[in-house]
Amino acid sequence: MSQLSSLLCSALLLLSKWQAAKRGVMVVEVDPSGASTTRTKCCRKMEEVGHRRMKCTTCGFEAWRDVVALLNIEKRLARGWAPPAFFPLIALIPVV
Ligand SMILES: [Zn+2]
Repeated sequence: MSQLSSLLCSALLLLSKWQAAKRGVMVVEVDPSGASTTRTKCCRKMEEVGHRRMKCTTCGFEAWRDVVALLNIEKRLARGWAPPAFFPLIALIPVV
């Protein structure tokens, strides 16, 4: 990632956190590595079967790459972590 891209990502992250704080939304930074290519239940690598479509060759599950990533990030977040009761909404921000 170039220095300019890194700077823009940092600015976007800062703005997102600021907007979330204004609305009472808690922000949690999550490591997104491998999230869009790993099957949530089987933990197997998925293969791309079309434009941004992923399929698990073990169980046959197929979904959009972004949906697979969301399921995995949600699972990572759920492991041993619960939001404080005073934050009704949570924004997940993948941090590279
Ligand atoms: Zn599977």
